[in-house]
Amino acid sequence: MSIQAEPAPKPKVERLPPLPPAETNYRRIRKRFHLGFFLAFVAAPFLNLMRFDIPRQRFYFAGFELWISEFAIIFFALMLLMFIIAASAIIHGRIYCSYACPQMIFSEWSQSLERWAKAQAQQRLKTAAPGTRKLVANGLFYGLLAVASVFLAFVFTSYFLEPRDLLGRLLHLDLITVGGITGATVTILTFLDLTLVRQKFCTSVCPYGYIQGMLQDKHTLLVSYQDGKDEARDCIDCKKCVRVCEMEIDIRDSPFQIECVHCGDCIDACEDILRKVGKPGLIHYTWGERPKTAEREAWYMRWGFRDAKRVAILVILAFYLGGLALALSLRRPVLVEINPDRSVMFKVLPDGRIANLIRLKLANRTGRITQVQLTVEGLAGAELALPGNPVVLKPGETFERTVELRAPFVQDGQDVHHIRILAKADGARSADAEEMTFIMPLKR
Ligand code: SF4
Ligand code: SF4
Repeated sequence: MSIQAEPAPKPKVERLPPLPPAETNYRRIRKRFHLGFFLAFVAAPFLNLMRFDIPRQRFYFAGFELWISEFAIIFFALMLLMFIIAASAIIHGRIYCSYACPQMIFSEWSQSLERWAKAQAQQRLKTAAPGTRKLVANGLFYGLLAVASVFLAFVFTSYFLEPRDLLGRLLHLDLITVGGITGATVTILTFLDLTLVRQKFCTSVCPYGYIQGMLQDKHTLLVSYQDGKDEARDCIDCKKCVRVCEMEIDIRDSPFQIECVHCGDCIDACEDILRKVGKPGLIHYTWGERPKTAEREAWYMRWGFRDAKRVAILVILAFYLGGLALALSLRRPVLVEINPDRSVMFKVLPDGRIANLIRLKLANRTGRITQVQLTVEGLAGAELALPGNPVVLKPGETFERTVELRAPFVQDGQDVHHIRILAKADGARSADAEEMTFIMPLKR
């Protein structure tokens, strides 16, 4: 007779309280910024937000078509852009590199694509030989990257060539003209960059990283590791912060490593590990090397405006912004240049009238057909010998020629008559006026 043993009571499982929610998720924030900046990168040349058209010698900024001759506007626009980049390095360190730089965005994206291609091959070809899986993963990765490289190179080249013109060259597989060869070269360089170089570019080639190092001061934003002393140390040396770092550094060595792009991935990693043992993370964004404080600071301190130097930066930024706004508001949609041509003092025409030569340049800087009406003041009966008045200009067209300014002979004992030539474009609030002299013989 067998005696059935009583089943052993199940050990009581004591459930630990749920983990507190993660305090930081900079990776997610960064990916949102990446999406926003990627869309801005793609939209900028197509919406003429910023673009240099090299063949046509135009600079597009915030929707304005600027001519290379419009020095003041281009100066203020470039100074403003340069100053924003410098100010960002002084205040927020290398945040630009990890949150906004296209090189970083596309490098991280190509790494994710490679991981995704490997995972797809693993999942879908479970029974296939490892060599076959690797071949499929590589084919998927390189194939998609090749398509993406064509697209990215197209967008990048559009910053320097007219996008529709470039698209025509791409569709005709143009490898003959300068534009076509440029597009193909940029495509190959993009492909190589995203397969072989990636973040190595940031620490080897990119000058901005070195400049940022020089611009930083004791209040610049840093990613800094701050642990206790001796037995109070909380770091469990799990090295997760090192493993997640795409720049392959250990932030515990120093917050001033040139490779660190202040992405915050190590902050998330440490927080994720230590909150499981109920402790706060040891890596933080800090202003300078100051320890992270618990109390909430004023908004301007949280935005990085922590000393008089930052206020001066704001003032200079406002100066360039104001200068640019003023230059844009004074901009005339039609460029008018009127100058006398004194290679001939005057000519007596067969009908007895007197003619002086005038060099005339009218340039339509708008995107629509524009008419310019030219009139002469100060000399009765004076008129410009133009093929048509008003002069009709197509978008972007320049009318440049030497024309006769004809006037009836005046016997008043003067050989110099002061006149004004007015050029009034459609839609312009006022006419451009050029003062000059008209030379006549004293006697006929
Ligand atoms: S050390 Fe941290 S913040 Fe710096 S690059 Fe590496 S992961 Fe990003
Ligand atoms: S993740 Fe945190 S706990 Fe782990 S090694 Fe890095 S600093 Fe130490």
